[in-house]
Amino acid sequence: MSAFYSKRIASILPYVAGEQPKDRKYVKLNTNENPYPPSPKAEAALHGFDAASLKLYPPLEMRGLREAIARAEGVAPENVFCGNGSDEILAFCFPAFFDEGGAGAAFADVTYSFYPVFCNFFGIPAHILPLNEDFTLDLGALSALPAQGMVVANPNAPTGIGIPLSAIEPFVRENAGRIVILDEAYMPFFGQSAVPLTKTCKNLVVVKTFSKGYALAGMRCGYAIADRELIAGLERCRDSFNSYPVDSVCQAVCAAAIGDADYYRERTAQVISERERLTEQLQKRGFFVLPSAANFVFARHAARGGREVYEGLRARGVLVRHFGVERIREFCRITVGTAAENDALLSALDDLLSR
Ligand code: PMP
Repeated sequence: MSAFYSKRIASILPYVAGEQPKDRKYVKLNTNENPYPPSPKAEAALHGFDAASLKLYPPLEMRGLREAIARAEGVAPENVFCGNGSDEILAFCFPAFFDEGGAGAAFADVTYSFYPVFCNFFGIPAHILPLNEDFTLDLGALSALPAQGMVVANPNAPTGIGIPLSAIEPFVRENAGRIVILDEAYMPFFGQSAVPLTKTCKNLVVVKTFSKGYALAGMRCGYAIADRELIAGLERCRDSFNSYPVDSVCQAVCAAAIGDADYYRERTAQVISERERLTEQLQKRGFFVLPSAANFVFARHAARGGREVYEGLRARGVLVRHFGVERIREFCRITVGTAAENDALLSALDDLLSR
């Protein structure tokens, strides 16, 4: 560690993303990417992009992209904020809506592990609520914490459990005096988005991404939908770091993608149907599988440890994600792949379990 590091950089614990190995070709089911390619319209926008225009900075207001998102989400462009992946938007949400050394942010013990990293980085106290025994979230208990606001991933990661909108709505309304951040990265696979609530709930930020449902993880684009005043808060934050977090190519490709609802409806239905098949097949092989509303399943084997399953699959060319942390040590998170990829996973498992 360099002596030139600031105290902040020397003391933080950065987030560790899932591995992207190059040593051999794996069946890659470890980072919840979409197994299908993006829409042909997105591909056409990429090929048709005018390279000469790259000499200019990207459209500052991202008008075209924000209008396309607004149309798809049924909101006004003023209520849309775009960023370099939803990770960047979440990174802005913490300093935008939580005070350094203030009342803090409340979230679950088993959820997206970037939230505690952001808290740590920005000096925001974290109130951590243990999930119930069955990994569901007690929204009443979360509300009872004396925090400045709450962050909820819905569906949750890495559990995959979704909270119905009928439970989210009263939760957001009861907390009208506090900020609620809903991370809907996996919402396309659940279909109960809280975006319509942003029209009447001035305390709600819904964060979404092009990475999962739109199969554009490599583009790095996410967006938030909220009341105009909250969006302006995110803009203040962004404009204190980088005026152009979303490049011109990305703006064009994502705008084209989100306009192709028919294509994505079909792909999403395929992922969901494979998710159900995978769940059933894992259960047949002795796995306990949490009910998933996402594009991955979280599963624990009755007799084999989580690390053993992860390592055994890795040795057989299949990558899944294992978190060596309390409560979920015996689980593996498995991204739903194509039918062929899921079959490869299942035969690797058969081989592993037969030994
Ligand atoms: N939220 C959750 C719950 C996630 O799992 C991820 C993906 N790691 C993200 C947000 C960030 O996705 P991206 O930055 O690609 O939009």
